[in-house]
Amino acid sequence: MQEVIKVNNATLKQMNSHYASNQQVPPVGALFRVKQGGTIITGYNSGKVMFQGTNVTSEVSKWGKPTTSTNKASFPKATNSTLPSGFDTWSVIGSDEVGTGSYFGPLTVASVYVTSENIETVRKLGIQDSKKLTDPEIVKMAKQLITFLPYHVVNIMPTKYNQMIEKYNQGQLKALCHNLALTNVLKKIQPEKPQAILIDQFVAPSTYYRYLKGQSIIHENVYFQTKGEQAHLAVAAASVIARYVSLEAMDELTANAGITLPIGAGNAVDQIAAKLIRQGKPLADYAKLHFANTQKAQAIADNK
Ligand code: MG
Repeated sequence: MQEVIKVNNATLKQMNSHYASNQQVPPVGALFRVKQGGTIITGYNSGKVMFQGTNVTSEVSKWGKPTTSTNKASFPKATNSTLPSGFDTWSVIGSDEVGTGSYFGPLTVASVYVTSENIETVRKLGIQDSKKLTDPEIVKMAKQLITFLPYHVVNIMPTKYNQMIEKYNQGQLKALCHNLALTNVLKKIQPEKPQAILIDQFVAPSTYYRYLKGQSIIHENVYFQTKGEQAHLAVAAASVIARYVSLEAMDELTANAGITLPIGAGNAVDQIAAKLIRQGKPLADYAKLHFANTQKAQAIADNK
């Protein structure tokens, strides 16, 4: 539960002294932050005061009338909607995927909840976009993150992926995975609700929702942002966890194949795929067959 009120400067100062004990480090742009029972109260210099948690209503009523409530939040429509100011300090579920451009290996989507209180801890782990981290760094960081952050991973291994891609296009499949991962994280953190959900944008929001038609769609307070990992650490954390699970899956597939399976979709991939074909191994269990690499690998295998 979250409510926001707008107060004048005098009231803001009054609140600051009223909540003088148990204050925490305020986020950028805020005068104070305090945890009062189950409620976190953040007073911004702009006069905006945010109440989050349980018991919000009774605490709010001491100071004024709420101007906005998360329950009334609007459905995001703009493709590149700007995120609200201070978004990076909010309690957010971030969602990101890996493996969509890689011939071998699974499609992996992770959603993870990072509360305002956890942001600093996550930042201190040295988290950033998973693309800039080495594999061992990813593994080490992910193992730490999953000890204290609520998360859910949807990992579609190639065998299953190839069945599903008969029915859905890849964008649709991604949307289904994000929606499922988000559903599960929301369940895990109940009755708490995030202030927002941020999906690393891979398609226009209208297309995303069209892909999910017929599903039970998570849309409350959902935002989309390309390079989402720069907008909130929850997306960066999701990216790290997704890559970790994907790496583990690649190790498993590599062990199974008896040959190191490269990532990406380049020439090295075609060569290895051709080798698997010649050895009579079913490509469908290792690779995303709808990629053009399948024909290229077949041609290589046939010529030799
Ligand atoms: Mg992404």
